[in-house]
Amino acid sequence: MLQYKDLDDPRVREVIIIGGGVAGLSAAIYLGRAQRDTLVISSGRSMAHWEPIVGNYLGFSDGISGDELVRQGRLQAERHDVHFADDRVEELRAYGTEFVVRGRKSTYHAKRILLATGIFHLPPEIRGVSECLGHSMFFCKDCDGIRVREKRIAICGANDEAVEYALGMLLYSPCVMIATNGEKPHWSEQHARWIEEYEIPVHLGRIHDVEHEERQVLGLHFEDGQEVKIDNIFTTRGDIFHTGLAEQLGAELDEEGQIKVDAKMRTSVPNVYAAGCVTPANCQMIIAAGQGATAGQAINRDLFEEGLQTHTLRRFRAIQLLEEETVPEGV
Ligand SMILES: Cc1cc2nc3c(=O)[nH]c(=O)nc-3n(C[C@H](O)[C@H](O)[C@H](O)COP(=O)(O)OP(=O)(O)OC[C@H]3O[C@@H](n4cnc5c(N)ncnc54)[C@H](O)[C@@H]3O)c2cc1C
Repeated sequence: MLQYKDLDDPRVREVIIIGGGVAGLSAAIYLGRAQRDTLVISSGRSMAHWEPIVGNYLGFSDGISGDELVRQGRLQAERHDVHFADDRVEELRAYGTEFVVRGRKSTYHAKRILLATGIFHLPPEIRGVSECLGHSMFFCKDCDGIRVREKRIAICGANDEAVEYALGMLLYSPCVMIATNGEKPHWSEQHARWIEEYEIPVHLGRIHDVEHEERQVLGLHFEDGQEVKIDNIFTTRGDIFHTGLAEQLGAELDEEGQIKVDAKMRTSVPNVYAAGCVTPANCQMIIAAGQGATAGQAINRDLFEEGLQTHTLRRFRAIQLLEEETVPEGV
């Protein structure tokens, strides 16, 4: 069967997806199944790898590890002839109707770009934290709140969000404290009133280290010598959005630094789409997958309409008429 790529400049891919995490893989599956010539370029650092048991993704009643979800997603995309390049993209430019994608290892060309580059949740800079990430130190109550039911929980932070996390955690556990790690609280008066109303303890001292064993948090050691026994930490230190490539093209970002998209995941730059946590979506795997699917469908439709306008579909059809059976027997 002929494919579109047989007719066009074979140097230029129909679609390049930058980022092979949840959003990128979901888009790749849609585009592969739509017979689009698709390349996924990824540096392979999906945040999904941080989650040992994803319990909120539809269809896995016993949970699935983030590693396995991404591995299966890639296999599924490869089954539909999607290609993969293990590379880190450093430069993205538009030249007329073509995009030039410069990676550390190679340069690539495409007609459409999907940015699915994700974000990075900043962990607190405290000794012992990194060993516990995703196991007993978390970022997201929607993902991991249920794992800390009845546990002793410390929220690291000094802003409104930290207070709201502490309040939200009361639904899971009665034993919740806030540790500002030496930062002066800058929550609002209303949030201060809530801390009082709900009697949430606040420790203002600097944390020296997190005591842990086999990735399990055991307690916080403060610089003033105090030791507090806890089981879990949540942090609200903030995120870094991987928007550098979008910015190189001049794509608009919102006030939080996320790539602005419309309902079809189109950015403000023609023929450039974005999906997943790098957009204003709530950063959840199933939402990233949904956005990837939306982007994949929209890109496919867009290429189809372009094919009609530029008569590429006509050229494709001409070869079919020449080389293949095009009329069912009996017609
Ligand atoms: C500890 C932890 C636990 C979590 N648990 C859950 C959970 O239980 N349930 C849930 O729904 N969500 C969970 N999440 C969130 C989930 O991981 C994200 O929602 C999801 O991974 C977002 O998908 P994405 O495709 O937008 O980004 P990612 O999956 O992070 O993928 C982004 C990809 O882009 C690549 N990339 C970035 N820049 C470049 C570049 N310049 N060139 C090439 N490649 C690039 C990265 O290497 C990465 O592969 C958790 C997150 C963390 C940190």
